[in-house]
Amino acid sequence: MNEVKKPRKPLISYYVIVLLVLLIFNFITMPWLMQRQVQQVDYGTFIEMAQNQELGQVEVQQQENQILFTNKENTAIYKTGMMPDPDLTQRLADSGAEFSGEIVEQMSPLLSFLLTWVLPMVIFVAIGQLMYKRMMKNAGGPNAMMFGKSNAKVYVKSSEGIKFADVAGEDEAKENLTEIVDYLHNPDKYKEVGAAMPKGLLLVGPPGTGKTMLAKAVAGEANVPFFSMSGSEFVEMFVGMGAAKVRDLFKQAKEKAPCIVFIDEIDAIGKKREGQIGGNDEREQTLNQLLTEMDGFEENSGVILLAATNRPESLDPALTRPGRFDRRVPVELPDLKGREAILKVHAKKIKVGPDVDFSKVARMASGASGAELANIINEAALRAVRDGRKAVVQADLEESIEIVIAGYQKKNAILTDKEKKIVSYHEIGHALVAAMQSHSAPVQKITIVPRTSGALGYTMQVEEGEHYLMSKEEIENKVATLTGGRAAEEVVFGSVTTGASNDIEQATKLSRAMITRYGMSEEFDMVAMETVTNQYLGGDASLACSAETQTQIDRQVVELVKKQHEKARKILTENRQKLDELAAYLYEKETITGEEFMSILDA
Ligand code: ADP
Repeated sequence: MNEVKKPRKPLISYYVIVLLVLLIFNFITMPWLMQRQVQQVDYGTFIEMAQNQELGQVEVQQQENQILFTNKENTAIYKTGMMPDPDLTQRLADSGAEFSGEIVEQMSPLLSFLLTWVLPMVIFVAIGQLMYKRMMKNAGGPNAMMFGKSNAKVYVKSSEGIKFADVAGEDEAKENLTEIVDYLHNPDKYKEVGAAMPKGLLLVGPPGTGKTMLAKAVAGEANVPFFSMSGSEFVEMFVGMGAAKVRDLFKQAKEKAPCIVFIDEIDAIGKKREGQIGGNDEREQTLNQLLTEMDGFEENSGVILLAATNRPESLDPALTRPGRFDRRVPVELPDLKGREAILKVHAKKIKVGPDVDFSKVARMASGASGAELANIINEAALRAVRDGRKAVVQADLEESIEIVIAGYQKKNAILTDKEKKIVSYHEIGHALVAAMQSHSAPVQKITIVPRTSGALGYTMQVEEGEHYLMSKEEIENKVATLTGGRAAEEVVFGSVTTGASNDIEQATKLSRAMITRYGMSEEFDMVAMETVTNQYLGGDASLACSAETQTQIDRQVVELVKKQHEKARKILTENRQKLDELAAYLYEKETITGEEFMSILDA
C-alpha cells in the first residue's frame, strides 16, 4: 500500500525538520546565547569591584565552582572561577552587594527534558496535524481514508443553471436531449409503455461547439444533480486508482438518482484497446470498470450518462455499442442561422448599438464555432471600451472577426514603398480574379494593413447565403482566386515574392482534395485516394494508394493549379488598366470595402 503512504511524505519531512530545529536550538543556539550574555572575568576584577563597591547581585555557585555577579546597575552579568577565599563572605558583606548561594534551583532533569524537548514537540505535532488536515481539505485530494474517491464536481440544481435557451442553434441536438429531460421529469410515462431510456449519450463534434454547455443545460432543465468529470481526471499514476474512481462516481450517482453524470473528453479513457504488449494497464482497467458499471446499472434507474468527445472514431467499440452509449448526438459547427443565434445570445451580455447587423457578422464568420463567436463578441466589447464608446458598433464586430482570423493590426510594421505597392497589387489580384469569374463569392473587404499573424494584407470574400455543396467550377475558381495574388505580381512586376506562401498551401490542399477525395478527376473517377482521420480536429487526411498512384496524383495537382494560375494571369492581363487603377486606390486608402471595389470596377 505504498500509494497510501505517499501523500504522507510531506508530513514526515516536516517532523524531521522540526527535530533538527529543536536539536540546533537546544544544543547550539541556547548555550551560545548564554555564553554571549555572561562575560568571563578574572578573580582580581571581582575583588576590585567588591572593594570599589561596584557589585550589584552576587550568586556563589559552589557546585559549579564559580561566582556569577552583576554590576551596580544590573546591566551586565559577569562570571569568574572560585578561589579558596576564606574572607569571601566578609568581603561581600563589606561591598554592600546583595549576595546569596545558588538562587535558581537546578531544574529537575525530568522537568527540563519535558520543557525543552517534549513540549515543543507536542506543539509542533499539533501544528503539523492542523496544517495537514487543512491541506487535505483544500486539495480535496487523497488521504488514507478517502483514497480513490472520484472527487467529481457536483452541480446541484441552482437558479443560475444553464438552460436550453442559453444554447443557441444546435436544434437537432437539443431535440435529442429534450427527451432525456422529459424522462427525468416523468419517468413513469416511459415505464408504462416499457420504453427504456438510453443509458448513455455521446455528444460528438468539433471543439467549442457547446457540448459541455448542452450537458449542463440538460441538468439545468431537468433540475437534477449534475456530476461532471473530465476523462483525464480518471487517469492516475497507479493501476487501479482510475477504476476505483469510476466505481465511486457511480456509487455517488446511484445515491443521488435521478441525476446526470457527464464525462468530458471521454476519449482519454475510452480509447480503443489494442492488442499490443505493454499497453496502458491503468487506462484499460479504468475503461473496463466503466463498461462494467454501465452494464451494472439498471435501465430506468434514473442515472443518465452523458459524454463528450471530438474523436469518436478513436473510442472503443465496446463503449459505443447499444446498451452503453446507445445514442450519438452530433453537435456540429453552427450554420448561418445558428451563428446568428449564438451571436445574439452572447450579445445580450453587452451593450449593442443600433447599426449592428448580426446576420452580416454571421455571414462573415463562416466556419466559426460557438466558442469563437462568443470570443468575437467579447473582443468587440473590449474594442468599444478601448475606443471610449458606450456601446458596440458594427465596425467593432467586423474588426474582431478579423482579429480572430488574422490577428491584431501590427502598429509598428513599416513596409517600404515598394513592398506596399506589391502587397496592393497582390490583394487586388485576388479580388479582381474573384470578381471576374462567375460562381465566386463577392469581395467584402480588401486591406493592406499588416496583421500580427504575419499577413501583410488580405481579401475577404463572403458568401451571400449558406452553401452546402461546391461544384467543380467553384473549387477551380477558388484555386484561380488564390493564385490571383501571385499572378498580379508576375503581370505587373515580372518577378515574384514570398508573399504567396499561404495561398500556395491552400490552393494545393484544395486541388489535392478535388482529386483524392471528391472524385473530380477523370483519371481516378470515383475512387477515394485519401481518408480523413480526424474529422473534428482539423480533418487531417492520409493517403491510401500505391506509390505510383501518388506520383500521378502529384502530377495532376500540379497540372490543375497551373491551369488555374494561367487563367488568373489571363484575366489580369486582360484587365490590366482596372488592376492598376484599383491597386493605386488601395495603396492610398489601405482598406477598401467591396462596394468601393465594385464601383471602380464598374466605372
Ligand atoms: P465544447 O465542450 O463543445 O468544447 P463548450 O460547451 O465548452 O464547448 O463551449 C465553450 C463556450 O462556447 C461556451 O461557454 C459558450 O460561451 C460558447 N458556445 C459554444 N456553443 C454555443 C452555443 N450553441 N450557444 C451559445 N454559446 C455557445
